[in-house]
Amino acid sequence: MHTLHQDLGVPPAINASGKMTALGGSVLSEAVITAMSEGARHHVVMADLLAATGREIARVTGTEDGCPTTGAASGVAIAVAALVAGTDLSRIEALPDPGDAPCEVILPRGHSVHFGAPIRQLIALGGGRPVEVGSANKVTKEHLSGAIGPRTAALLYVQSHHAVQKGMVSLAQTIDVGREHGIPVIVDAAAEEDLRHWPTTGADLVVYSGGKAVGGPTSGMICGSARHMEACRAQYAGIARPMKVGKETLFGLVRALRDYGADSPGGHHDRMEKLAARLAALPGITTRVVSDEAGRDIHRTELAVDPESAGRDAAQLADELAAAGVYLRDHHASTGRLYVDPRPLNPDEEEQLVGHLTTLLEGSKGHQRLESDKGPAGLEGGDL
Ligand SMILES: *Cc1c(COP(=O)(O)O)cnc(C)c1O
Repeated sequence: MHTLHQDLGVPPAINASGKMTALGGSVLSEAVITAMSEGARHHVVMADLLAATGREIARVTGTEDGCPTTGAASGVAIAVAALVAGTDLSRIEALPDPGDAPCEVILPRGHSVHFGAPIRQLIALGGGRPVEVGSANKVTKEHLSGAIGPRTAALLYVQSHHAVQKGMVSLAQTIDVGREHGIPVIVDAAAEEDLRHWPTTGADLVVYSGGKAVGGPTSGMICGSARHMEACRAQYAGIARPMKVGKETLFGLVRALRDYGADSPGGHHDRMEKLAARLAALPGITTRVVSDEAGRDIHRTELAVDPESAGRDAAQLADELAAAGVYLRDHHASTGRLYVDPRPLNPDEEEQLVGHLTTLLEGSKGHQRLESDKGPAGLEGGDL
């Protein structure tokens, strides 16, 4: 088992934090692994494979066409590039210099997120100039329309728990503004689970990750009109070249898309209730089940850590678990709360998690941590 893991000194991690890039995205199904090895065994005409994968993306998203990418991050850069340079080869080859093409990408300030990298940088990589409007917690329709001018290339809407959820202009309003001014709207729906919903909102280009909700290999996709998708794929002769998708990945993505939703586990509510009841017995821990802040059908067990009776605060507890190879969702550790995300965690790993927590909390009255016990730094700026 795990021979290469051992050789490299990088053992498998127990992931209770979500679909995190820092923990390798998704664990792949046997069917996806088989598809990737099938793809790896032969040469193919890559342009044909990209187009065929685009048709699969179109089918599952209910759109005209699709463009496969290495991830949602490159999807945002490529979508912007497509709107700045279109299919004009000299413009494509000049990016990220947009020349005299309209290149401003307007986004609500509360959507200027960092998901592991800043979204502003991806806009710039695609030749766009980010124009943030409004304030971090207050953006209206008027802020968007007021910023539109002859240099505007796109509106960008980030559908994510990373974005500010209150006080923001809605997607419907953003699309209205786009329609009124003839400006296309890009939606970054990287981690969203409903692949058909976001294109029906009227968004022109929708970007998803293939390695998050879909459970595919490290990959992503853009979907939308045939004209926009042709322009997206054309960027592989330009800024998208260093983001090229391999044949193995395309095979794996297609398999994952075909299987997606077939055995949907639902929101894991009952499973998290059971876990919450067990963990509530530990000293210093109060639990409850909470639903996803971005409205997806995900339930998580929240552990509120009382530093007094637990003997350490939430961030320390997360570090100690990480040192044992167990990663909880720690976006809110500074407020004393950790979460167990059920999606990447199998039942056996869930038992190991309970075991490690029990050992740490019940065996540690007066426990003195050695400097060398310090776990790796937290998984900062995690994905979803
Ligand atoms: C994760 C994420 C991305 C990047 O997706 P990758 O597939 O890892 O490239 C982009 N935007 C948002 C909002 C994300 O959550």
